[in-house]
Amino acid sequence: LMQAAEAIGSHVATPDLGAYWMPFTANRQFKQAPRLLARASGMHYWDVQGREVLDGVAGLWCVNAGHNRPRITAAIQKQAADMDFAPPFQMGHPKAFELASRIVQIAPAGMGKVFFANSGSEAVDTALKMALAYHRVRGEGTRTRLLGRDRGYHGVNFGGISVGGMVGNRKHFGLAVAGVDHLRHTHDPARNAYSNGQPAHGAEFADDLEKLVAMHDASNIAAVIVEPIAGSTGVLVPPMGYLQKLRELCTKHGILLIFDEVITGFGRTGAPFAAQTFGVTPDLITCAKGLTNGAVPMGAVIAKDEIYETFMQGPEHMIEFLHGYTYSGHPLACAAGLGTLDTYAEEGLLTRAGPQGDGIAAYFAQGVHSLKGEPHVIDVRNHGLVGGIELQGIAGEPTKRAFSVFLDCWAQGVLIRTTGDTIALSPPLIIERGHVDRIVETIRTALRRAA
Ligand code: PLP
Repeated sequence: LMQAAEAIGSHVATPDLGAYWMPFTANRQFKQAPRLLARASGMHYWDVQGREVLDGVAGLWCVNAGHNRPRITAAIQKQAADMDFAPPFQMGHPKAFELASRIVQIAPAGMGKVFFANSGSEAVDTALKMALAYHRVRGEGTRTRLLGRDRGYHGVNFGGISVGGMVGNRKHFGLAVAGVDHLRHTHDPARNAYSNGQPAHGAEFADDLEKLVAMHDASNIAAVIVEPIAGSTGVLVPPMGYLQKLRELCTKHGILLIFDEVITGFGRTGAPFAAQTFGVTPDLITCAKGLTNGAVPMGAVIAKDEIYETFMQGPEHMIEFLHGYTYSGHPLACAAGLGTLDTYAEEGLLTRAGPQGDGIAAYFAQGVHSLKGEPHVIDVRNHGLVGGIELQGIAGEPTKRAFSVFLDCWAQGVLIRTTGDTIALSPPLIIERGHVDRIVETIRTALRRAA
């Protein structure tokens, strides 16, 4: 395998880098010292020089079954040869219906409907629009306010950045969607630092919803959106009882609860969805990433049956929900999704990081927590196969220290991800103990020589 990769790698020429404006990337830094990937298999990438790189982040939280899995590849290849595209409006193709049914089989009970989009950001904006339209068709059209949470990440479209809570993603773009408000985040290092799994303290942060209801009145609030575990702002695991409390308050006030499971979906927390892991059923779930193992772009909103049924009124020839994308339920994405769910099922990956698993999540937890006491480390957080290692930032130069650790790990042949000054790990769910050791020891080495 290595030799083949080297042979391929050695033939990949570095292209001209000028034209491509890279997303969420320090373009100038990158183009001076490009990190170009050429090939992937299982737990590894190979760069254009043929150098092997262990993937500690499942690409970008998405390649949950590991890279280039044969069933998924074959499904995409076959679909591309059979039918490239089918219009999704007023038309359909069997695989979109099959995939929706398969998603419902692993979704929380009562969540029986699936709407397809092409990314997490599109899934989020779809869910927010669904929530607004739902209240309107029920005759509660004053429910227009959308609530998010500080330090939330819900993608980059206008709805998502409005309910999101990351100033960097908002400040350049004007007001976006008006009429939002935010709960406080749940990060509380003074009480919860170095928690293994769910932190003990902070269920009461959910009471912020009561405050916002008192401020805006429930009759004006459509939905609350939260990530069960906030990923992109540094792995914030929900305190014990927090999500339950949020659910109770939403139910009490007729507010829809949306879980953004773009990262937590498809096995990351030890169940198909974090809703199941934490025993809390929302009204809508957004997902993407692991849905197709990252192989073809796809996002989805999973809705309670009751929400769908509410839309099914008026003349039958009329379109009930005026929303959709040219590529909703794209045949290649559906084929990839079916191949992905088959692979997850065959290998037990959707529950491997949970109590029924083989102990890999506990081993991973032990590994990341062994970094406590290393230079710069101020907190370690984890749940299932997601881990966060928070570093003390360099005074006046936020993100710089973590980024230098990222570059050091890359040089050592391990791909990690950093967000702010937190290292975020989310390895493919096929990870073995030796890989955990290699990731942890590589980070340890980098921390010990970081400035
Ligand atoms: N929501 C959450 C919770 C995410 O973590 C992400 C991406 O990381 C998104 C939405 C956006 O997904 P995408 O980049 O596919 O638009």
